[in-house]
Amino acid sequence: MTHPSPARRTLLLGTALAAGLVGLPALAVAQSGELNLYSSRHYDTDEALYAEFTEQTGITINRIEAGADELIERMISEGANSPADVLITVDAGRLERADEAGLFQAVDSEVLEERVPEYLQDPENKWFGFSKRARVIMYACDRVENPPRTYEALADEEWRGRLLIRSSTNIYNQSLSGAILAALGEEATEEWSRGIVANMAREPRGGDTDQIRAVAAGEGDLAVSNTYYLGNLLRSDNPEDRAVAEQICVVFPNQDDRGTHVNISGAGVAANAPNPEAAKLFLEYLASDSAQAYFAEGNSEYPVVEGVAAPEWIQRFGEFQEDDLSAETFAQNNADALMVMDRAGWK
Ligand code: FE
Repeated sequence: MTHPSPARRTLLLGTALAAGLVGLPALAVAQSGELNLYSSRHYDTDEALYAEFTEQTGITINRIEAGADELIERMISEGANSPADVLITVDAGRLERADEAGLFQAVDSEVLEERVPEYLQDPENKWFGFSKRARVIMYACDRVENPPRTYEALADEEWRGRLLIRSSTNIYNQSLSGAILAALGEEATEEWSRGIVANMAREPRGGDTDQIRAVAAGEGDLAVSNTYYLGNLLRSDNPEDRAVAEQICVVFPNQDDRGTHVNISGAGVAANAPNPEAAKLFLEYLASDSAQAYFAEGNSEYPVVEGVAAPEWIQRFGEFQEDDLSAETFAQNNADALMVMDRAGWK
């Protein structure tokens, strides 16, 4: 088998683009090529997600799957010799960390500019969000009549000893605090953090799912969690998971002011990508309608592209207004947010 010359290859990629990968059925584009994907994702729908890209472009995907921090460490230590073309991971805070370590290059793409909302991408185009999750208030439907309607209200005295929330070492809480810092300033955020600590039903432990389970078990009445954890319980094959989820109701906080904090799963092209054209094409593919559906369904998340429906089993949470604070802003607030949480005694 012959490989196309670089010029020929560029032409083929150009053709695929011109034909419009976005939202169109599979294209039979003769293309040989490879893409090395470093990913902290591992969901059932990923097989279909990647197979469709290969079908459309002829580009084979080699996957390296590991924890996000492990992948970032690996790329740092591989340096200029890293085979990574694309890094996929969760949380803008982590994407920003990878960017600050010099792991990404800017991607200039009309497709991405048009399809990924501005506040869900890095202003310098080093990373882009491809699905989103809201960090919401969850409560015991049968025990709580008037749940808090804002993040601020989670700190109210009414909820002493009733709140389940994970540790301040968790990036989701750091990003949430980074968003609150942007909205309220440092002093008020520290005050808020103290209220959160005072309201904890127990010392923080476990992940978001553990907080949801603890509410169902009656250890407390409120939890803070990303939406997809409840979504994944709802669609679980295990009836016990579904029984937990059925007891939980959702509040999208701050609907009367700045909106609910949302975070992303996202990706960027590696600074030293051996296959940068294929990498850009892959990111554009992730913004296509069909890839958006696979990508969101994999982890019960919301698509970022307008007009693509959320997975059916999370639509029951209802519609909500998002805080459109730039993901880069709360990500860059990470260190300050952590310091504030620390001072407030949030373990
Ligand atoms: Fe998670």
